[in-house]
Amino acid sequence: MLRLYNSLTRRKQVFEPDDGETARVYSCGPTVYDFAHIGNLRTFTFNDILCRYLSFKGFEVKQVMNITDVDDKTIAGAAAQGLSLAEYTEKYTQYFFDDIDALNIRRAWKYPQATQHISQMHEIIQKLLDNGHAYVAEGSVYYDISSFADYGKLSGVQPEELSSSTEFSRLEGDQYEREEAGDFVLWKAAKPGEPSWDSPWGSGRPGWHIECSAMSMAYLGPTLDIHTGAVDLLFPHHENEIAQSEGATGQQFCRFWVHGEHLIVEGQKMSKSLGNFFTLRDLLEGQFLHPTRPAGAGLLAPGHPPPTAHRPLPPATQLHYGGAPAERADRRAAQYLH
Ligand SMILES: [Zn+2]
Repeated sequence: MLRLYNSLTRRKQVFEPDDGETARVYSCGPTVYDFAHIGNLRTFTFNDILCRYLSFKGFEVKQVMNITDVDDKTIAGAAAQGLSLAEYTEKYTQYFFDDIDALNIRRAWKYPQATQHISQMHEIIQKLLDNGHAYVAEGSVYYDISSFADYGKLSGVQPEELSSSTEFSRLEGDQYEREEAGDFVLWKAAKPGEPSWDSPWGSGRPGWHIECSAMSMAYLGPTLDIHTGAVDLLFPHHENEIAQSEGATGQQFCRFWVHGEHLIVEGQKMSKSLGNFFTLRDLLEGQFLHPTRPAGAGLLAPGHPPPTAHRPLPPATQLHYGGAPAERADRRAAQYLH
């Protein structure tokens, strides 16, 4: 019997695929704008262990992991390097596959790219418009969160006075904080110098959240068995995926939400924005990983804390970082990974 902690119900539940045979698993994949840091890779390792265990339990596993190759970050990164979006994202997509191969992560069934699924995104956006969950404003399309009574059921975020008469501010960015919950963008009107695609609402590009609704349902159908991702995606990304998918189909989007905890560095999550990160390359080049020892086991070493905790790992398992960038792969990191 396999029990999984389900972030949706906030308790452990016995897992069985809906059809008893095939586990349909969707995992939020990399945004290919930079090297993954080992906190990201810990999440991919956790996905891998989960899928391998499902196979071991005798289920067929269909795992889909998206490649986000168009969003705010990839567009900014390509512009900064003077490359086309495709040239830029291909480079980092290859690095992603190099990293997961180095970690002996089993390949997913499919790795769909967002830029190859624009028409599926259009279909969902059109359904949301038809169902009264979205509206057009100045060439962009927004999700009206007041139209979806279940908004907040995953994250517990309850926007003030969520009712059909409430107007929320419109959010342009893909990422925002819980306190800023508002109408998020499904389709962004084209801006000069940015890549764009034709659509029924004018040329533009997709918002980040719609990408995962489109690619998961395209390959796995309207209801997933398991959706995985790092815990920082729970809000707004996963909350918005539910609103989009259920608003379009009227069916439950996902039965089990399983989140991986952050890798903690001195009390803070490892992140690009904080600059407190190691890449796999830092560790391999510093020869801090034993060539025959699976690095993935090291990444999982702290164990998986109770997902309800949403708190730092106990001090004994923390990865400490105190040096200058050149000293990142220091002895403490080596201890942690061995
Ligand atoms: Zn996603």
